[in-house]
Amino acid sequence: MQSNILQFVVDITQQRDLDSMESSLVATLAELLPVIAVSILKTSRENNEIHTETVISLTIDEEKASPYCWNIESHTPVSCEHMLACTSSSTITTYRHENGYFRYLFPVSDESRTIACMVIDSYEDLSSQMNLIEGFGKIYQNYRILFNESERDKLTGLFNRRTFDNKLSRLFEIQQQHNSEKKLDRQDERRISETDDSARLIIVDIDNFKRVNDDYGHVFGDEVILTVSQIMKSCFRKTDLLFRVGGEEFVILLEPVTETVAVDLIERFRKAIADHDFSQIGTVTVSAGYARINENDYPPAVLDFADKALYYSKEHGRNCSHSYEALVQEGEITLSKRGGNVDIF
Ligand code: GH3
Ligand code: MG
Ligand code: MG
Repeated sequence: MQSNILQFVVDITQQRDLDSMESSLVATLAELLPVIAVSILKTSRENNEIHTETVISLTIDEEKASPYCWNIESHTPVSCEHMLACTSSSTITTYRHENGYFRYLFPVSDESRTIACMVIDSYEDLSSQMNLIEGFGKIYQNYRILFNESERDKLTGLFNRRTFDNKLSRLFEIQQQHNSEKKLDRQDERRISETDDSARLIIVDIDNFKRVNDDYGHVFGDEVILTVSQIMKSCFRKTDLLFRVGGEEFVILLEPVTETVAVDLIERFRKAIADHDFSQIGTVTVSAGYARINENDYPPAVLDFADKALYYSKEHGRNCSHSYEALVQEGEITLSKRGGNVDIF
């Protein structure tokens, strides 16, 4: 048993990003313990309220042909008095769920507060295994802090360039998995709701930023980058992924929405920047280009499409945003025309 556990620790700690580590931890707990579900929830505080959302969960139903059901980044909000107690007091909380199983909540903290929670559901009493689970929770806690430092940009707190490739590949995997499940459903002749929601990749570049640096100095330049990132955080949803990929260049991976919603979100952000009064500098604007993420696309191709749309925005007056698909449809750019002044990729 002990060498078995050690091997699991080795497996978990050899992961190189937070997402993979969370999957490995959840799979390990499901393998070691008689559980029916294991989840990791992210917790955050907003206006003195505690919000939780599922980052990853694994449900096990031995009676099914494929008993392991992964749910990645479902972002389901979870709220109950036990969760609030666990999060606010940072203590392990156990209770009997109305469906008869035991639910164990393990808080995960950074230096000052609870930032996540491991949730384990089991029909068996796991009190004799608490030390083991707590140990895995502590390993997760330590690595989470390390990953957060290495995956985020120091100035803005957004994800950094290094994290971008992993997150983009993961998004493609999730979408392929999601679509293949849909195809399975179709074979089962179940009803499929047709939506034209799709994820999008947006590249944002601050306009004439060299001038800000030249006229006001780098410290002011950095202040502008920080403010742009803060406005970005306030305009997009928590489920959209925000990256600072270069000096004054950002990428947003927008969760699936319709074209109208996407245009509204991007334009609202662009206007929020243009309307903001940057102290001493005055007005700063951004240009953006975006493209749909289709599951069969090659990830760098999507970047190239969004980059072409950004290039078009820069060439057509700046302080505007354009969709690659719309530009192709309107004949403004052709599929073969290449270009782009974004030097990040
Ligand atoms: P355009 O509208 O075409 O994007 O013009 P631009 O001046 O923004 O274009 P360009 O991409 O050529 O210049 C970006 C400048 O950003 C170059 C560099 O001086 C500055 N820069 C890059 N990284 C940082 C940073 O971390 N802090 C600050 N203050 N400036 C940076
Ligand atoms: Mg640039
Ligand atoms: Mg620029």
